[in-house]
Amino acid sequence: MRTLESGVKNAKNAVHYVFGRGSILQLEPLLLDLREDESSYAIYLIDSYFEKNPGPLKDISKSDIDFVIYVDTKHEPKTDDINLLLSKLQKTGKDSPFAIIGIGGGSMLDIAKAVSNLLTNEGQAEDYQGWDLVKKPGVYKIGIPTLSGTGAEATRTCVMTNPKNGLKLGMNSDHTVFDQLIMDPNLTATVPRDQYFYTGMDAYVHCIESLAGGYRNAIGDAFSDQTLKLCREVFLSTDMQTDENREKLMVASYLGGCAIATSYVGIIHPFSAGLSVVLGVHHCMANCIVMAVIEEFYPNAVEEFLTFTDKQTIKIPQEICKNLSQEQFDNLYKSTIIHEKPLTNALGEDFKKILTKAKVIEIFKRM
Ligand code: ZN
Repeated sequence: MRTLESGVKNAKNAVHYVFGRGSILQLEPLLLDLREDESSYAIYLIDSYFEKNPGPLKDISKSDIDFVIYVDTKHEPKTDDINLLLSKLQKTGKDSPFAIIGIGGGSMLDIAKAVSNLLTNEGQAEDYQGWDLVKKPGVYKIGIPTLSGTGAEATRTCVMTNPKNGLKLGMNSDHTVFDQLIMDPNLTATVPRDQYFYTGMDAYVHCIESLAGGYRNAIGDAFSDQTLKLCREVFLSTDMQTDENREKLMVASYLGGCAIATSYVGIIHPFSAGLSVVLGVHHCMANCIVMAVIEEFYPNAVEEFLTFTDKQTIKIPQEICKNLSQEQFDNLYKSTIIHEKPLTNALGEDFKKILTKAKVIEIFKRM
């Protein structure tokens, strides 16, 4: 059997979405419609950044009965983190909400998706890492992105790492897709410049990888083309964070997510996953570190990427693999080469002939 398929079998995008500056005000009426009676409660899973900086979320009026958990997303989600959140909800009797509302960047949105699925499906997060393993629809999920680029708001997966086996893989399932999105560009107004750039680049990287792959389809290509167009407009302009550019990047993120939902990434994401799993580098920064050294595989994109970093005066971390042990390089190799779908998309079934262990380690040594 071939590893990959091209064509769109039966894609699912977010069921509903509202978009626009100030659209966060729509949350309250939406919840009012969903709330069954006065005993029904929603659970907010909010990035802990907003505990100290509530400003951007000031327009959300929570009902007293609703339950708020601030989640630290400094490190990318591990299966244990998700399990811990789940047992916290179970122990406090808050395990049957009518909605889960995730507010934050890609990690936060992914955590919200995973928790929602686990509240209605038995077992632990690691039981569902893979394809179409989630049996029942999760709790009604509302996603409110506060960072643009990962596309987590649009995808049917929620990436998490299982430290026991080093597997970085999400719950790929139609049940993982958000039922409702609220995309309000006002919520990204306070994102620090570097983070805004790194995260936005994720959308760019998704699409250049998809378009360079062997398994493409016309819809995925159309999503990717438009995403790249928007990314170029944002990152080649003098101020990438104007109201208009933040709006464009939010659209790019969503479309980029739709693009990878119908296609595959390529070489950059597997290497990036290696950096995340072994060295704990955040996904979006890890992508940028890989981008800076991978010109032999993506010459045009790397040139353009470097133009963006120059234009926006963003520094990409260097020499992060300088003093690593042989064991760490072995682990980097393992956690890269395990991603056979994207690597097959990029290089064909025989990708291991090109990405030999020595080659992979040589590439990491450039970072
Ligand atoms: Zn990504």
